[in-house]
Amino acid sequence: MSAEEAELGKTYGNLIGGEWRAARGGETFDSVNPARRSEVVGHFARSSRADVDDAVSAAVAAQPGWARTPMPGRAEVIDRAGRLLAERKEELARLMTREMGKVLTEAKGDVQEGIDMAKYMAGQGRNPIGEVVPSELRDKRCFTERVPIGVVGCISPWNFPMAIPCWKLMPALLAGNAVVFKPAEDTPLMAIRLAEILTEAGLPPGVLNLVTGFGEEAGAPLVEHPAIRAVSFTGSVDVGQQIAATCGRLGKRVSLELGGKNAIVVTADADIELAVDGALWGGFGTAGQRCTATSRLIVEGAVLESFTEQLVARVGKLRLGDGLDPATDVGPVINQSQLQRIHSYTEIGHQESARLLTGGSVASDGAFGDGNFYRPTVFGDVRPEMRIAQEEIFGPTVVVIPAKDLAESVRIANGTRYGLSLSIYTKDLAKAFHAVDLLESGIVYVNAPTIGAEIQLPFGGTKWTGNGHREAGPTAFDEFTEWKTIYIDYSGRLQRAQIDTGRE
Ligand code: NAD
Repeated sequence: MSAEEAELGKTYGNLIGGEWRAARGGETFDSVNPARRSEVVGHFARSSRADVDDAVSAAVAAQPGWARTPMPGRAEVIDRAGRLLAERKEELARLMTREMGKVLTEAKGDVQEGIDMAKYMAGQGRNPIGEVVPSELRDKRCFTERVPIGVVGCISPWNFPMAIPCWKLMPALLAGNAVVFKPAEDTPLMAIRLAEILTEAGLPPGVLNLVTGFGEEAGAPLVEHPAIRAVSFTGSVDVGQQIAATCGRLGKRVSLELGGKNAIVVTADADIELAVDGALWGGFGTAGQRCTATSRLIVEGAVLESFTEQLVARVGKLRLGDGLDPATDVGPVINQSQLQRIHSYTEIGHQESARLLTGGSVASDGAFGDGNFYRPTVFGDVRPEMRIAQEEIFGPTVVVIPAKDLAESVRIANGTRYGLSLSIYTKDLAKAFHAVDLLESGIVYVNAPTIGAEIQLPFGGTKWTGNGHREAGPTAFDEFTEWKTIYIDYSGRLQRAQIDTGRE
């Protein structure tokens, strides 16, 4: 048995006030390997409102002390966590593949994103946190400072089980907040590993609290808890909108990173081979389960046939399998209900008279039967208004939509309720810049697929994808800090702004 296999099947608790404890109700749930459902990755605390209350109380108690720790000191903890992540990258990536299914190279990339975020945030710990602004009066100094919000709730999805929690936790903690973290029920082990690392790196007890469990049972009470001042949520539109409604009612800050229906536009002058490379990586990387996954290919008539032919031939060669096998290109999807949902969209595509060009079925023969495997799928003859071209499928399915020119391609690309990531392949500089100007999304790529965000830049989307916040990059702090404006009058007399300025 490998060291990694020896890790499987253990029972884990919640992290509350620096202690690992079972859920108050004593219940657990299992996380299983999506490539082999018979393999139980671990048993996890099934938390309820009582556990969330405990976690929030611990955070409330710990937050003032943490906020008083100088920011460079807080940054050192994040820095050490980054080093521990780097030391354990291989082992964490292998566990991630078992828990979530993505192929090992991508799991390593997911951990690397966490490492990059730690390095970036550790550096931010010595950067300015405000501005000195001139006053209109003499002997008066005005400046701003970013201050922590207090206790924040972070709720994450399963598709980037290390990267997304790092995107949230690291800036939130660096800013001086205490955090209660509720990870996705499909990937609790990665969250536990991250909490262990942050604890080992020196985070004081109670500054980070982790409650595992389901959305309605543990996520909703976290959002509703009166001591939670801000909620950072990444997940589906439906849940995001519910959370936004609750936060609106309770007067809390909320940041939302939701779904996408991302597209690549392929112009007649594009490098077709490069565009096919991009479509394959964007569409089938992580089995299409990225919020930025390429799910629509909008192709100008002149190159439609050659692009589609090359794409379908290459998709047909993608090898489906366990992500730990180096020969695998496409791993399993996260769970059985997602597998059925993906297949239901294939049926919808048939009903809408789109043409199935390859794939379109659950792989259940032999070893595939114990996992959640869907054959990489391409639909052709798709019209922009079809449901398969409008709704997020979140699986290895892409649709090819014909367009006559750039104007029509841009119209189609912009024609969904989402606005996360759009891309254009062209050799024409003017077309590239027109696309940059006209595409309505938080992220635009030229000659690269819709995936591939780097942590030092803002990340997020427009329209239903988000609510205007941006994670990562310098904008990460906007999510997790308040601005405080400070006026210091050292004139020794009453000075009235707007009035005692020497103007009539
Ligand atoms: P999901 O919305 O089902 O769950 C996300 C998290 O919310 C989980 O931790 C879940 O337990 C919790 N949750 C569920 N119901 C809740 C409730 N009522 N109150 C509080 N919390 C609740 O999403 P998912 O299936 O885990 O993830 C897939 C979705 O996430 C896709 O739509 C994808 O596009 C989106 N996503 C977006 C981004 C982005 O940055 N824009 C990144 C990754 C994933």
